[in-house]
Amino acid sequence: ASKNGGRGQFRFYSSDLKDEEEVRQMMLDDLRIALEEGQLFLHYQPVVSIKTGHVVCLEALMRWEHPDRGFVSPGQFIPVAEDSDLINNLGEWALREACKAALKWPKSVRVAVNVSAVQFANQGFPAVVASVLAHTGIEPDRLELELTESIFVGDSDETERMFKALKDLGVRLALDDFGTGYSSLSYLRAAPFDKIKVDKSFVDSCTQKDKNSAKIIAAIVGLSNALGMETTVEGVEAFDQLEVVKAKGAKLVQGYIYSRPLPEDQVDQHIASGEFTITPDGPET
Ligand code: C2E
Ligand code: MG
Ligand code: MG
Ligand code: MG
Repeated sequence: ASKNGGRGQFRFYSSDLKDEEEVRQMMLDDLRIALEEGQLFLHYQPVVSIKTGHVVCLEALMRWEHPDRGFVSPGQFIPVAEDSDLINNLGEWALREACKAALKWPKSVRVAVNVSAVQFANQGFPAVVASVLAHTGIEPDRLELELTESIFVGDSDETERMFKALKDLGVRLALDDFGTGYSSLSYLRAAPFDKIKVDKSFVDSCTQKDKNSAKIIAAIVGLSNALGMETTVEGVEAFDQLEVVKAKGAKLVQGYIYSRPLPEDQVDQHIASGEFTITPDGPET
């Protein structure tokens, strides 16, 4: 049911001959097959301590290589999966894979896994996490679940129960993309987050004096510290950004300046090589 595009290029999901709903359905069908046939895999992006240069955590990021379409980005396929039950299967697969991978790393290195608000709203989710912990044997506090503010749209009693169930398992919780949603401070009042991840958008403009981004980064780091949480600043690409972020009190950074997301077989050598030291010329390992 695919079409060749104008210049002999295989156009599949972007076909303008199909309406949006048809395209989504096609992608969803392919995604089911992808999960069954092993077209999905995970890359891992280091989170680095600026001071020591050590990798403290690796975030698992889902990748899909479609046999005809090539690489499809998670920004495209995750929202499609979220419109159906399939996100629960994808999410469980990612959890399992990531925990298995982490067993091969030093115990000081955590693994972070993104959890969709759809998964979080599913009452069976803590049992899924418990099963992954039991089957892999990974220490629960080495697993960090990344949640976004979109989890707070649901019933607040349910949300609270879910938090409790997850904390009872001993896993860590991180609030991802902080600053892009409603960022209501009331979310932080009762939610047991261990970490806040400052969204890349603040870093993008943090070197521009006329923007308030650098000050906002400082304020989020301060807020996070006051609440006893860690902070990771996401999306640092350039040396001048790293300098600003560091000056604003950030300790942990995740971004291309240190490393892009890596295939699993390259993770070991990056951890083993020890330290990332960033100079104005880029990373030295
Ligand atoms: P996220 O969880 O906020 O992940 C960070 C994204 O920023 C990743 O994009 C990463 O590759 C990118 N990134 C990190 N550092 C830099 C940088 O210095 N520069 C730039 N330009 N980008 C940087 P990616 O892998 O495309 O993932 C996009 C989003 O897709 C993720 O955002 C997350 O929301 C979602 N996602 C990825 N994997 C999963 C998954 O397994 N489950 C769920 N539910 N969502 C996932
Ligand atoms: Mg994330
Ligand atoms: Mg993020
Ligand atoms: Mg994001």
